[in-house]
Amino acid sequence: MLHNDKLEQWDRENFFHPSTHLAEFARGNVPHRVVTGGSGCHIEDRDGNRMLDAFAGLYCVNVGYGRSEIAEAIAEQARELAYYHSYVGHGTEASITLAKMVLDRAPDHMSKVYFGLSGSDANETNIKLIWYYNNILGRPEKKKIISRWRGYHGSGLMTGSLTGLELFHKKFDLPLAQVIHTEAPYYFRRDDPGQSESAFVAHCVSELEAMIHREGADTIAAFIGEPVLGTGGIVPPPEGYWPAIQEVLDRHDILLVADEVVTGFGRLGTMFGSDHYGMRPDLITIAKGLTSAYAPLSGSIVSDKMWAVLEQGTDENGPIGHGWTYSAHPIGAAAGVANLELIDKLGLVENAGTVGAYLNAEMRAALGDHPHVGDVRGEGMVCAVEFVADKQSRRFYDAGDKIGPQIAGKLLEQNNVIARAMPQGDILGFAPPFCLTRAEADQVVAATYQAVTSVLG
Ligand code: PMP
Repeated sequence: MLHNDKLEQWDRENFFHPSTHLAEFARGNVPHRVVTGGSGCHIEDRDGNRMLDAFAGLYCVNVGYGRSEIAEAIAEQARELAYYHSYVGHGTEASITLAKMVLDRAPDHMSKVYFGLSGSDANETNIKLIWYYNNILGRPEKKKIISRWRGYHGSGLMTGSLTGLELFHKKFDLPLAQVIHTEAPYYFRRDDPGQSESAFVAHCVSELEAMIHREGADTIAAFIGEPVLGTGGIVPPPEGYWPAIQEVLDRHDILLVADEVVTGFGRLGTMFGSDHYGMRPDLITIAKGLTSAYAPLSGSIVSDKMWAVLEQGTDENGPIGHGWTYSAHPIGAAAGVANLELIDKLGLVENAGTVGAYLNAEMRAALGDHPHVGDVRGEGMVCAVEFVADKQSRRFYDAGDKIGPQIAGKLLEQNNVIARAMPQGDILGFAPPFCLTRAEADQVVAATYQAVTSVLG
């Protein structure tokens, strides 16, 4: 089957690819690529290309490709018990063990974990739990959710609404009315170039305060944010942002959801981004790094404070009316257990911190002074390079110039290195597997320098 010469035709005729220009793909203008294998930080395609994947799939294959420990755990679970549900107190050894492992790693004030399949459905669960919580507390009006422009939280109806990227709203009748968006903590794109970082944080906080005042705190249930903005541009927050936001939320009795789909389980060099930035979330969303994408699995980690109210709700209303057939799927759970064990055994959280810092420092050294590089930023094992038409005035390129995609294309074509042209702005994103070596980091930086200079001079 792998050598079937009709594969491209079948692909273009039958396969509805996510996040793809459908018409251009059908016309053959979007490449068709069949990925056939992977090992460590590399993947291979059926044309025999071997590529260094500096984006770990979609920042998810955190332990790297080809880990036989996880493959064997999955196979063993499939042989013993491929499926049983987790409704009405049922579970499997794998799902119960994984819940314990997640809570052992989560911040101290977290109480339970609900397992789903994707980051999107985990955030969907979070919003339902938040609404349930406020209904049990007798505050049916407290339902709105504040998200940030450029936040990414999924692409369902509610989660696509939370996502603060126009592409995910346009022509889908989104966002839903309960979702409102506030300023992104994107210091590089501040309006006033002379503004200090602390003044910019104060500005983000006052925008949030104004929104709460305008809408009424008694109508706002929660605030959702990624510790580091991901898909919206890979933007670490300015110093002091999260503690300042947390203070406002606490004062207005607004819950905090930390969406750690990207940052959870080590990407910033700490187990969770919440620990890293001093956030005190009521819910934490996890997915990608939970299994390193060896099988689909996500989760919502619920705080002690919320759990007490959810329990009370079931005393008043009966069992919680929320569950997926595949919640805590045993194969995903087995992959999760093996993945978290491997992360510990190989010290990969530490490696994400140290090699990630090296990658960021080298990228800054190589490209920071380039006349068309406006910003090089990152934290742990994420890094971004943002391009500008004019550095002095921070003038951006026209979207139609497709500078980001052109550079990502060159990087792949010339050097077999995969980075991601982030969907909004000319931003090249890197989020390699945690097992990246310094030599591989050097290779990524040298290739990026070449690609940037070949497109921008
Ligand atoms: N939250 C964040 C922070 C994400 O980056 C993503 C996916 N990139 C999601 C949620 C949605 O996850 P999924 O694609 O698994 O639904």
